[in-house]
Parts: sequence; structure tokens; C-alpha cells
Amino acid sequence: MRGESLRTQGGLSYTKEVRSREVVAVCMFLDIRELEQKSIQFEQALPVGVILFDPEFEQQSPLTASGIVELHVSTEELRVRGKLQVSLRMECDRCTEPFDKNIEEEFDLIYVPAPETSPGSEVAIGPNDSHVGFYEGPGLELNDILQEQVLLALPLQRVCSEDCQGICPICGQNRNETECHCRTQLSDERWSALKNL
Ligand SMILES: [Zn+2]
Ligand SMILES: [Zn+2]
Repeated sequence: MRGESLRTQGGLSYTKEVRSREVVAVCMFLDIRELEQKSIQFEQALPVGVILFDPEFEQQSPLTASGIVELHVSTEELRVRGKLQVSLRMECDRCTEPFDKNIEEEFDLIYVPAPETSPGSEVAIGPNDSHVGFYEGPGLELNDILQEQVLLALPLQRVCSEDCQGICPICGQNRNETECHCRTQLSDERWSALKNL
């Protein structure tokens, strides 16, 4: 028993050490001049609060992300491929209770020089091409890309569970916690009204 708990503790502290070593840079600039020489691989574990989200989301875990950034030198196209994972706490649209949403997203993005720095590119890039973004001059901030990808990955409908019963519009109770029978009562009243006719 004692030996077991010691092993567990050892395992935990090892994990912690590895994590703190992984957090080398919380901010990573994708430098075009560096990318002209070689592609950049990234592996990030950003502690809570490094990337700021809307106050309605409370970050519950470090944001982990890994991938590769390549520059196509002749077209100046920057390609960012990778995946990210983060857990955010948010409010359920139906019952308003907080719940944690694990967001896992893979991305494959293309960035081109912003139109100002490269005249004529407006013609080549249609406004409807949502996969193409822009970068200015020296490069791009990886954290900005990750923040945008998390926001895009958020579900449109935020529900704590698919079968969340929500809040009763009549008595205001959380129907996941209390069965309030409001609907039954309402239909009962309708029936009695019919009987009175
Ligand atoms: Zn709910
Ligand atoms: Zn009710």
C-alpha cells in the first residue's frame, strides 16, 4: 500500500518536471526570415491566462499545441499545420449551469502577405476564401493563430449535455435537478377548460 502511493507520487512529480521544461516560450513569433531558411516545429503548453479568451470562457487547462510552420518561398505562402487542445468552462445555453468543454482541433492554414505589402494579391484572393489569412511584414504570432482557432472551434450551441432539460419557462426551475410538472399542470388546465364548455 505504502509502496504503491510512493510510486504514484514519483510519477506525478516526474510529469510536473517534464511539463515545466516544455514551457520554454509562452510566446512564439513565426519569423519569415527564419522560415526562409527552414520550417519551424512547435510544441507548446501555454499555462492558463497566456492566451486571453472572452470573459465568458474560463480556461481550465493549459493550452497545448503542436505542429509545423513552413514558408513556400516563391509564393510567400505560410502554411501552419497542427493540433491544439484546451478545456474551457462555459455556461449552458439551456440550463445556464457552468460546464467544461474539451476543445480539440486540427488545423491546416494558409497565410499570405497582407495586400499592402504585396499589391495585386487582392485580385488573386477571393473574399470568400476563409482558409486564407494574412500576415504583415516580419511574420505572425503563433498565439494569435491559436486563439483564433480555439474561437472557431467553439460550438454554436453550448449545452452541458445533449439531453439537458433546461430551465422551465413557467416556474424557472432547473429541470435537470427538479421535475416540476408545469407542462402536465398546464395541459390539465386546458382539459378542464374544455370540460367546462
Ligand atoms: Zn444544461
Ligand atoms: Zn416548471
